[in-house]
Amino acid sequence: MTIPALPAPDTAWLETLDRPALHRSVSQRVESAFRLCRELHPGLPRPAVWLDLRGKCAGQAHFGRGGLRFNPLLLEENRLAFLVEVVPHEMAHWLVHHLEDGHRARPHGHEWQTVMRRLFGVEPRTTHRFDTQRASPTPYRYRCGCREHGFSARRHRLARRGQGYRCRHCAQTLVYLGCSAS
Ligand SMILES: [Zn+2]
Ligand SMILES: [Zn+2]
Repeated sequence: MTIPALPAPDTAWLETLDRPALHRSVSQRVESAFRLCRELHPGLPRPAVWLDLRGKCAGQAHFGRGGLRFNPLLLEENRLAFLVEVVPHEMAHWLVHHLEDGHRARPHGHEWQTVMRRLFGVEPRTTHRFDTQRASPTPYRYRCGCREHGFSARRHRLARRGQGYRCRHCAQTLVYLGCSAS
């Protein structure tokens, strides 16, 4: 057993929040997690927070954009899990990435797991059982030089097997944006 290092959210209070307040609660949770990380790594930059993720991904650490993205649709229906698991999950990616040599670490490898357990007191899991029925039929996010693309599960499988896809607009090969919590 580990001791939770982030305070347990009040479930009843969480359910009463309207959308702006709910989004603020995510930002505040990121801030609390960030302060814990700062104790370990004083030079850690503060991540921006966006609630603009679609599809099956609950959250994503986006190092190019310099912040953490969360899925507002999944947040709405999984409020507690977001604060207790998804925010620490993405924050742990953020921290590990900024540690010396951290960008070479495997995404859910030893470093990430240690941060989850020791710093946040959360059992490290890589997947969530969220109801994604309302999510898009093309949930896998890919990026080229000019925009984001959504792939279906079938297309995503082909891409993973080596089938290359190019953007019709900028001709760049599409790169999977990943999805750290799905
Ligand atoms: Zn493009
Ligand atoms: Zn992850």
